[in-house]
Amino acid sequence: MRLIIMGPPGAGKGTQAVFIAEHFKIPAISTGDIFRANVTRGTELGVEAQKYMNAGEYVPDEITNLMVRNRIDEPDAERGFLLDGYPRTLAQVEELDGMIAFTGHRLDGVVVLTADRDEIVGRLLQRAQTEGRADDTEDVIRRRQEVFAEQTAPLVEVYRGRGLLVEVDGMGAVEEVTRRIFAALDALPES
Ligand code: ADP
Repeated sequence: MRLIIMGPPGAGKGTQAVFIAEHFKIPAISTGDIFRANVTRGTELGVEAQKYMNAGEYVPDEITNLMVRNRIDEPDAERGFLLDGYPRTLAQVEELDGMIAFTGHRLDGVVVLTADRDEIVGRLLQRAQTEGRADDTEDVIRRRQEVFAEQTAPLVEVYRGRGLLVEVDGMGAVEEVTRRIFAALDALPES
């Protein structure tokens, strides 16, 4: 099973990714988490990525693509994976297509969580108080939303055109959203 979960910052991708990955027994691969782990460890990748992340900008494609390629080459991703936060640009879509084709597999579905803009700014500001992420300040949150709208929202149409899109309303209780996701995934044509 090879899946992507997409949606604006604060839509609840990371939260839902855990349930989906558990269900299909595949690793949830979050590019944001991998970048943050590198920032914490002070690696070269982390130092480079942090400059962009703190400003709410995307890390350059070459850096991100290489990181994902290395991650999905690991043995636990052989049977499949759920990508959270990748691809985010059209260039990343192409790169991912190449990576998956190379292994002789195909993408099974793209879950898109839709969310109300004001509601998600509120969620992120709330999260800032508990998790203290450096990029959860109001200005940076607004910038992340702009970048999402400019660079990532167009990807939805690309995947819709391929018949892979599973659009799910991300508003409401966590369990309710999870239920909607599984119902929508069940409705995907069998691979
Ligand atoms: P959110 O979806 O809430 O913005 P993430 O944890 O997914 O948070 O990502 C945090 C930051 O990591 C992004 O703002 C960006 O700087 C960087 N990042 C994550 N994934 C990518 C990607 N695919 N391409 C470029 N940058 C990325």
